[in-house]
Amino acid sequence: VLALPVAAYMLQGQEAHAAEMERTFIAIKPDGVQRGLIAEIVSRFERKGFKLVAIKLVVPSKEFAQKHYHDLKERPFFNGLCEFLSSGPVLAMVWEGEGVIKYGRKLIGATDPQKSEPGTIRGDLAVVVGRNIIHGSDGPETAKDEINLWFKPQELVSYTSNAEKWVYG
Ligand code: ADP
Repeated sequence: VLALPVAAYMLQGQEAHAAEMERTFIAIKPDGVQRGLIAEIVSRFERKGFKLVAIKLVVPSKEFAQKHYHDLKERPFFNGLCEFLSSGPVLAMVWEGEGVIKYGRKLIGATDPQKSEPGTIRGDLAVVVGRNIIHGSDGPETAKDEINLWFKPQELVSYTSNAEKWVYG
């Protein structure tokens, strides 16, 4: 007799929690993949408590890279950047969690690795701006656009991770 109202209450709670969850697009660029840094980088997001909801290894075309970086098309490094992004495998991912867009950028560090703090991904693992190993969306709008550019809706996996009740309480 009690089971039904309890279940309904719990479902409401889960939906409220899920609604707060943010998603961001994170990519390990060809330099990070070639340098064998996939596990190192993925583990930093995993250990933090963020949840992986999509992942694939792709070699983007130059046209695709130009779409991804369209905001930078007036910059002098745009062509080289797009050549580079399309020069080899990129590990494309979507990570989910409270504040993941902003905090993902903190984990990544400043654009120029010389200015990234030690302890950040670029600070610890990269040296120059043209080979800074990782991309992360810089805001909610770009996160949405980049997830839609890189992934089909059916490639995003919704699931409850066992760790969530321990990460969020
Ligand atoms: P972020 O990747 O930190 O969001 P931007 O969006 O400003 O930084 O730039 C996108 C990417 O373009 C950088 O990650 C870097 O790979 C490259 N880039 C930025 N500035 C330069 C530069 N001055 N010279 C070469 N490449 C650059």
